[in-house]
Amino acid sequence: MTELPKAYDFKEHEERIYQIWEEKGYFQPTNDPNLPGHDADIEPFVIVIPPPNVTGALHLGHPLFVTTEDIMIRYHRMKGEPTLWVPGTDHAGIATQLQVENQLRAEGTSREELGREAFEKRMWQWKEEYGGQITAQLRRMGASCDWTRERFTLDEGLSRAVREAFVRLHEKGLVYQGPRMINWSPGLQTAVSDLEVEYSEEQGTLYYFKYMLADGSGDYLPVATTRPETIPGDTGVAVHPDDERYQKFIGKEVLVPILGRKIPVVADEYVTKEFGTGALKITPGHDPHDYEIGQRHSLELINIMNNNATLNENAGPYNGKDRFKAREAIWVDMDAAGLVIKEQPYVTKVPRSQRGGEIIEPLVSTQWFVKMDAMAARAAESVLNGEVKFVPERFTKVFLNWMENIEDWCISRQLWWGHRIPVWYCQDCHETIVSREDPKRCTRCDSTNLQQDPDVLDTWFSSGLWPFSVFGWPEKTPDLRYFYPTSVMETGYDIIFFWVARMIIAGLEFTEEVPFHTVYLHGMVRDEKGQKMSKTKHNVIDPLVLMNKYGTDALRLTLVVGSSPGADQNVGEKKVEANRNFANKVWNIGRFVINAVNKIDEPIVYDPKWTLADSWIWARMKQTVNSVNGLFENYQFGEAGRQVYEFLWNDFADWYLEASKRQLAQGGDRAAYTAIILSDVLGLMLRLLHPFTPFVTEALYGYLKTAAVNNPVIFNPETEVAEHLMVARWPERIAEEGWEAEAIKNFELVQEIVRSIRNLRSEYKIEPNKPLSAVIVSKTRSEFLQQEKHLLYDLGGLKQDEVEIVDSNLPNGDMTPLVVEDVEIYLDLADSGDSEVDRQRLEKELGEVESHIARLEKLLLSPFAQKAPEKVVEAEREKLAGYQSSAAKLRESLEK
Ligand SMILES: [Zn+2]
Repeated sequence: MTELPKAYDFKEHEERIYQIWEEKGYFQPTNDPNLPGHDADIEPFVIVIPPPNVTGALHLGHPLFVTTEDIMIRYHRMKGEPTLWVPGTDHAGIATQLQVENQLRAEGTSREELGREAFEKRMWQWKEEYGGQITAQLRRMGASCDWTRERFTLDEGLSRAVREAFVRLHEKGLVYQGPRMINWSPGLQTAVSDLEVEYSEEQGTLYYFKYMLADGSGDYLPVATTRPETIPGDTGVAVHPDDERYQKFIGKEVLVPILGRKIPVVADEYVTKEFGTGALKITPGHDPHDYEIGQRHSLELINIMNNNATLNENAGPYNGKDRFKAREAIWVDMDAAGLVIKEQPYVTKVPRSQRGGEIIEPLVSTQWFVKMDAMAARAAESVLNGEVKFVPERFTKVFLNWMENIEDWCISRQLWWGHRIPVWYCQDCHETIVSREDPKRCTRCDSTNLQQDPDVLDTWFSSGLWPFSVFGWPEKTPDLRYFYPTSVMETGYDIIFFWVARMIIAGLEFTEEVPFHTVYLHGMVRDEKGQKMSKTKHNVIDPLVLMNKYGTDALRLTLVVGSSPGADQNVGEKKVEANRNFANKVWNIGRFVINAVNKIDEPIVYDPKWTLADSWIWARMKQTVNSVNGLFENYQFGEAGRQVYEFLWNDFADWYLEASKRQLAQGGDRAAYTAIILSDVLGLMLRLLHPFTPFVTEALYGYLKTAAVNNPVIFNPETEVAEHLMVARWPERIAEEGWEAEAIKNFELVQEIVRSIRNLRSEYKIEPNKPLSAVIVSKTRSEFLQQEKHLLYDLGGLKQDEVEIVDSNLPNGDMTPLVVEDVEIYLDLADSGDSEVDRQRLEKELGEVESHIARLEKLLLSPFAQKAPEKVVEAEREKLAGYQSSAAKLRESLEK
């Protein structure tokens, strides 16, 4: 006989169970296309993991996405579909390189000192260590992914995919190299994409100064700027063509302060007359808008900055000065030269690096770009025509808006960790060679003196190929043919542009198909006060600490139950602790049920009828199963989990288990049937709960299965018994048979009566287990209540032989009345009366009854009384009469 340990100890089960799952091969898909007997017509369910960065840091976003994806995967697997979840990690270019550079700095060396080759070796060592840690953590979280298909964005196959993609884009003219305005990160010494720049509103200064006319007239144009250090790079001043103040200056020349270089005044509609002075200095080399104006007017482009954000020789006397020192110096010099008008405090949007926070410098640099407009239009089209759907739907608009306003993507990075750009330059004839294989000789002059482009690709370039590169693309592998396109892409809404958009674009471009049909976006995890978690605020919660303390199931449940797609959520340790208690609750339910099953040893003689409690729990179970199925189909996992939780804790544990005790004590057939219901309902609920809390449910399933299978009275040999819960059948919708609504309604009346008795007990501070005598009066329900009185004894704590159920008789006046619908309950609270409490309660109750009377009177005077069937109207009249009589009795009690 199986006996369950008293408490659930997750430490005894989690690792053990995960190992069993993996050894059994459950993580691998059924209907494997690489094995004989494969049927290509069966549609698989596939997710590729958003590959975690090998930077080493784990935060609550990880268990959130792991749990959400694992829920989908386990659900589809239990439905019997071939299910595949591909795991992997991302090399995460700049983020990881910085970690290793920090390490080197601590050792007193640097990547430059080490040299490229040795540095790359260090990077790979880091990857081995931290990549391994991350996959260990994914296992710890219960992720049921297929480890035999694990990938890394820099592994051999994926590197091939990246080269193929780059070369194809180049062949189609969609990749180009050129000097363009880019965002330069002086600290990281690399270009970064628009998406990696965050604009923060900061207090700055608007500097007003004179642009003197070159004709020596002494006349000047007033100009304002927030960045005086860029003045040496000015190659024009622009005014609005309709600005009357400045008409006379258009076409004339002005002198760059300090440097004395002559530059033209041009008219351009981009200029806002109302901003600043209405005259704009144009620095095409260091401002994206100025760059465009410069192009329109063929203004010269002067680069005044070095890569480390000091000014260069083009800045004249400021050569070698840091950008902010130069700002001060030039202003002092201009003031001395009489060119300063005024300074004014000004709030400006400062571009800062998403990584590190330093101020980004827009500058013109030669980089590689991908032409985005045509590809983005195609991606937008796939969303517009429904090939790709967003959950929640509101992100569709955000996505489309961004696709419309997309700019070319700067993909080269001046880093050492990443996919090296597959471009070689001939050192003899300067030919540029773009190639899938490393070329040995120049295609033009046959020289062997070739040098590969030193830059690497933006890390998102390889991430964009992830949904098909993991299956071996460009090879047409069996995996690619069967598992691609994938089903759902689940990720955070914060990387919808960085990643989701680029995957859709790349999928359409390289495979002619969208890479997934659904994008599910989860929200951000915030601390319990709703603040963003960050190292500087010291409010980051380490998921490992929580898992060590409360178990994986508790953490998973916390991150999913009650959450909804796309919405941020607050998480604190208390919630995790509460969910640990839920895991224990489920365990205790299991103990109760298994004990009940174990006690049944007499064969069943005849078919006993179900009790009201039996029918009710079965009907509620059906409701829950049906509702949860609907919620799963609509990606509402948080609400689905909540409903299973509520059912188990409230309906099953608090009500049915209590009601079942008497039935079990009766022995014989009644006990056997009750045990069967207990075991069946629990078995089914464990399957619904499994995707959320896989460990405790699997552990319990093992015990329950053994108990049931070994009991010939309980066990139906025709039922299918899966070896493990993970591969048991998902409970599909159960058809209603017509009796359910009434069973639920009837049991709810019992619940209402019991609740009001319990409330009364707590108001009067009467021990919950002190039995009370009662008289129950109901015109219409006395027969029913007579039949179910044992429920009132057991659940309401009434004295078994001192409860009278009548249809009219008035009880003696010393009892305390309660009203539930048209049922009056009179309780004997002798020795515990408190007249003031009593009075307040009666008044409250009378108020409620009176509001029912008012509502019903209004209803019966409305057109409803004429239109509704006679029977319905009559029922409402009866209810009204019942309330009226209750009100009279309450008033009577109040007068005493
Ligand atoms: Zn050559």
